[in-house]
Amino acid sequence: MKIAVLSRNPRLYSTRRLVEAGRQRGHDMVVIDTLRAYMNIASHKPQIHYRGMPMEGFDAVIPRIGASVTFYGCAVLRQFEMMGVFPLNESVAISRSRDKLRSLQLLSRKGIGLPVTGFAHSPDDVPDLIRMVGGAPLVIKVLEGTQGIGVVLCETEKAAESVIEAFMGLKQDIMVQEYIEEAGGADIRCFVVGDKVIASMKRQAKPGEFRSNLHRGGSASLIKITPEERMTAIRAAKVMGLNVAGVDILRSNHGPLVMEVNSSPGLEGIEVTTSRDVAGIIIDHLEKNAEYGMTRTKGKG
Ligand code: ADP
Ligand code: MG
Repeated sequence: MKIAVLSRNPRLYSTRRLVEAGRQRGHDMVVIDTLRAYMNIASHKPQIHYRGMPMEGFDAVIPRIGASVTFYGCAVLRQFEMMGVFPLNESVAISRSRDKLRSLQLLSRKGIGLPVTGFAHSPDDVPDLIRMVGGAPLVIKVLEGTQGIGVVLCETEKAAESVIEAFMGLKQDIMVQEYIEEAGGADIRCFVVGDKVIASMKRQAKPGEFRSNLHRGGSASLIKITPEERMTAIRAAKVMGLNVAGVDILRSNHGPLVMEVNSSPGLEGIEVTTSRDVAGIIIDHLEKNAEYGMTRTKGKG
């Protein structure tokens, strides 16, 4: 197969591993810098050009679209979809996953366990919003934050009100969420490929920190997940329409709660922690599923 990897940087661990795993299996792997792909959208024959050359003959595309280039990256991916190239994850599913609120609404509609979460626009509604999610302590999140940046724990209602008002004043959309204290600063990353959890790890925040993100100094270790956690992760990825996803789960007193679903989950932490060949499993998935024009949403909204 000829497989495109949309990535800003061929030296990133995830990109390198995907290219390596593809080449090992005899595929032609081409890394395309997402922001350097340009396209003719108004042609009867949709095209993508790269460094002066038309990009043709691809069987599949692996999007590795960073949060800061979601808009342009999804447009490039959509163009691949219009050309009939099979996307590992579809542009529509990636756009959904990048908006935390939209994701939680989709998951909630399908009855997946989530932390109690509120959303409001007007500062006048803040006191009731705080009551609605059960009062302090609570977590405030910027809707499009990533790597733990823009996630704040407020111990008191007064602190929460001030933080929410500050974000609102900056025209920054936020959501307010119940704090799952019993998770003890840990969460579980379930790596889903197709309809399986192929690897999972526990991430523990460093002392004095509640965010378990590895980018925030968290540490990863092996963990055995329960059948309920496994089912929850698989269902969450499916609801989002993602073939490959990093589903983050909090262990609460009343079962697993999905915190977020990542559409470009990093490979380094999970491969190093679990010794699984995650990149190889992803390429295997493409070998089994990539078919011309098999995009469920065909580049639609
Ligand atoms: P990001 O997209 O920036 O990673 P997350 O929603 O995943 O944002 O939050 C970052 C981290 O903060 C999580 O990995 C988790 O450890 C912690 N966290 C987030 N929400 C909650 C919550 N409601 N209760 C307890 N811990 C939370
Ligand atoms: Mg996260």
